[in-house]
Amino acid sequence: MVTKLLLAATAMAICRLMVTVGLPLAPAELLRLGVDGNISVDASDMEAAAVDFGGTSRAEPLAVLHPASTEDVVKLVKAANGKGFTVSARGHGHSINGQAQAENGVVIEMSVRRREAEKRTSPPRPRVNERERYVDVWGGELWIEVLRAALEYGLAPKSWTDYLYLSVGGTLSNAGISGQAFNHGPQITNVHQLDVVTGRGELMTCSDKENQELFHAVLGGLGQFGIITRARIALEPAPHRVRWIRALYSNFSEFTEDQEYLISLHGEAASKKFDYVEGFVIVEEGLINNWRSSFFFSPRGHPLNISSLAPDGGVLYCLEIAKNYLQSSADTVDQEIEALMKKLNFIAGSIFSTDLSYVDFLDRVHKAELKLRSKGLWDVPHPWLNLFVPKSRIADFDRVVFKGILGNKSSGPILIYPMNRKKFDDQMSLVTPEEDIFYLVALLRSALKGGDELPTLAYLNNQNSQILEFCYGAHINIKHYLPHYGTRHEWMDHFGEKWIQFHKMKMEYDPQHVLATGQRIFPPLF
Ligand code: FAD
Repeated sequence: MVTKLLLAATAMAICRLMVTVGLPLAPAELLRLGVDGNISVDASDMEAAAVDFGGTSRAEPLAVLHPASTEDVVKLVKAANGKGFTVSARGHGHSINGQAQAENGVVIEMSVRRREAEKRTSPPRPRVNERERYVDVWGGELWIEVLRAALEYGLAPKSWTDYLYLSVGGTLSNAGISGQAFNHGPQITNVHQLDVVTGRGELMTCSDKENQELFHAVLGGLGQFGIITRARIALEPAPHRVRWIRALYSNFSEFTEDQEYLISLHGEAASKKFDYVEGFVIVEEGLINNWRSSFFFSPRGHPLNISSLAPDGGVLYCLEIAKNYLQSSADTVDQEIEALMKKLNFIAGSIFSTDLSYVDFLDRVHKAELKLRSKGLWDVPHPWLNLFVPKSRIADFDRVVFKGILGNKSSGPILIYPMNRKKFDDQMSLVTPEEDIFYLVALLRSALKGGDELPTLAYLNNQNSQILEFCYGAHINIKHYLPHYGTRHEWMDHFGEKWIQFHKMKMEYDPQHVLATGQRIFPPLF
């Protein structure tokens, strides 16, 4: 009885909405889809689906689906084709520019809130195959849950993002990169198989051997061809502990030469390389600038004094590396690290090192998130800019951007680390620069409405534009990571030679442009 009343109330709420916006889908029809999950117009669901981590774009959906299964997704996408409305999968809403939003469409809330989900039918939990070392996970599963499930068998995924509260489907629609990518490739190259509900509403299983074209299109495909409902992710034996090390440089070319040397060791035995290679630029110290750091102290335990190391007010570069190890090899890890560190040219005495569990290392950014949340500095606008910069031009980028345009106020971490292009798969939709080595430069900056602590959104947006103008003017062949463009021409430029295939696959798998319209690549055709 209560359920019936709830359904009737939801139907009336949806009906009011439809009438207001003059939409084609009758409310009763949405409910008549007979999903096992839940279709909601609840204010808190609608608000969550209308915004994202970027905090600057907003689009009101018609309704939100909490699916209980792949079949629910199939039913909704089929209805979208028949009735003419859009559908966006929303992973954890950590996009910056509205990529997971669906204006006047239905947002599928893919991420699973386990505690709530226990009360109703919910998507399948991760299933580990210990012998074959893989895990099958729901597309909306957060990486932290994938890690927890795999660890029960002493296993873990190989390739990560720096932050684990992102969804599997969300990172696989982009690339999923972190300090392991030089060695294992991005997350998209560590997937064996996918279940995908295409934009036509058909469920297809795809892999390197089956429906290959769809498999390659979906990985890095910005949600354009289908909704990932299951991913089979490669696992390896999980290390127990991690030695996490930072070392400082004032000379940019010494810094990048060392980073490039370290990633060239990808073919070496585990004992002869680091497992994680990243780095960041320091233009000033402070919580907001260094929120990814939970440690950064001088050897005597005092906070780092940057001006003593970069006396002319210049910038510093911090190499960030990590070595995984098993409890049983704790005795040899120091020697292995020492041998590797001997080859590097960091500022003498500037090594900072800590030892922690594998889980604490992987989950490090979440701890920083909690700190920022407690200070009201997490839910602020994030005009992030992520660029892949070819190795041949990274010194130009340093000279003009780090030492010039940014001034001495960064208002967020600035990551910089190289990756080996051969670890990426060019058949996939992701685009990268064409050189063998390219850098990720991630300007992860936060804005406030005003005040002294953080620059305003307008200020940071203006700086982002200056950076892009410089790159284009200097003919640096950058590629945007987590791209966002306003025109078809810009998207064609972004994909370059891959555009023809990208477009062909869209026509084949989502001919009505139902899916992921928040990416603003293909406007809906109804
Ligand atoms: P959403 O933002 O919800 O969705 C992103 C896009 O994917 C949308 O177009 C959406 O429609 C589509 N999509 C979502 N789920 C599915 C699905 N199941 N099937 C098909 N399409 C789907 N990225 C890195 O690579 N490395 C990092 O280290 C990293 N660190 C980050 C740290 C923070 C604090 C934040 C906020 C982001 C970070 N990112 C990083 C970026 C992140 O990878 C992207 O935001 C990505 O979109 C994942 O976020 P999400 O799961 O919330 O996806």
